[in-house]
Amino acid sequence: ALTAGIVGLPNVGKSTLFNAITQAGAESANYPFCTIDPNVGVVEVPDKRLDRLTEIFHPRKTVPTTFEFTDIAGIVKGASKGEGLGNQFLSHIRQVDAICHVVRCFQDENITHVSGNVNPIDDIETINLELIFADMETVEKRLQRIEKLAKQKDKHAMGEYEVLLKLKDTFEQEKPARILEFSEEQQKIVKGYQLLTMKPVLYVANVSEEGITDPSNNEMVQSVKQYAEKEHSEVVVICAKIEEEISELDEEEKNEFLKELGIEESGLDQLIRKSYTLLGLATFFTAGEQEVRAWTFKKGMKAPQCAGIIHSDFERGFIRAETVSYDDLVSYGSMNAAKEAGKVRLEGKDYIVQDGDVIYFRFNV
Ligand code: GDP
Repeated sequence: ALTAGIVGLPNVGKSTLFNAITQAGAESANYPFCTIDPNVGVVEVPDKRLDRLTEIFHPRKTVPTTFEFTDIAGIVKGASKGEGLGNQFLSHIRQVDAICHVVRCFQDENITHVSGNVNPIDDIETINLELIFADMETVEKRLQRIEKLAKQKDKHAMGEYEVLLKLKDTFEQEKPARILEFSEEQQKIVKGYQLLTMKPVLYVANVSEEGITDPSNNEMVQSVKQYAEKEHSEVVVICAKIEEEISELDEEEKNEFLKELGIEESGLDQLIRKSYTLLGLATFFTAGEQEVRAWTFKKGMKAPQCAGIIHSDFERGFIRAETVSYDDLVSYGSMNAAKEAGKVRLEGKDYIVQDGDVIYFRFNV
């Protein structure tokens, strides 16, 4: 499964956030195959469409889909002694698919900040620079091998040389690789380098309990937003402390609590949703009397591949996918009504599954 890694400087609220994630965690009974790695927190992806589908199908069970966060700080503890970001840290970032970068946007005299004062942009750049340095090393190593070939007019090498120079130039300006635009051909080359600064980033602005109701008043949050915009990254504003408290409540108490605060969606739910989209993930549903269930797929996947997410037999024996969009199903009110209206399509093996599709797979065993 794709995973987002939680990173950040010391004392910014990473452990508090990760606690909230594991406490809010998915009911393991529903997900017997989930990892039990203590550094991985499995959460259910909030999706209001599941409630509506449950009303339509009255299933015995409703199962949300899940998303995994990896606590990179937790892995680093003990692994790299002393200050600074070790190779361990970098290699763990290499293994995640997206980065949730927690930055401190709350003042608290009792909690020391590593550099003495709270400045989220400095914090962001401290980590980003480490990643840029690591990528620079990767690119320079490759350059040494390619440069000679490129000068000998080797066609492949010349193409790659161009890409490498573009990357090097960007890193010299202390900018991440993800701001660059590449042709399809070039993208393939870049992918091979597994650059750390190509990974999508979500900045998690951790504000105080008081600050959460009106984050637009918080200058630190505003500066993080401006910074993120420039490098095409996203921002979520949360109060990790509050999330930790909420995560101990049941659904009803949680909604009550959020209402009191004047918040529509918890910070954690926003974090889950945004991480999910950041990774290009989407949801399809299976629905029947037994079970209504959400499944995660990667945008662009075709029907047989999606069938394979449920079971490999479904992919191997795939015949077709009886598909109705969530919107059509809901507006006609039942599967039968949608069928009568001609809204249930028989899709074949080339069908690209869309977010919100409700699918019944037909397959040979
Ligand atoms: P980490 O080193 O990044 O894992 O940071 P921790 O999660 O251990 O948090 C460091 C300190 O900041 C702890 O004392 C937390 O209780 C406190 N803290 C974390 N989030 C918040 C927050 O949203 N508001 C306030 N006031 N304190 C927080």
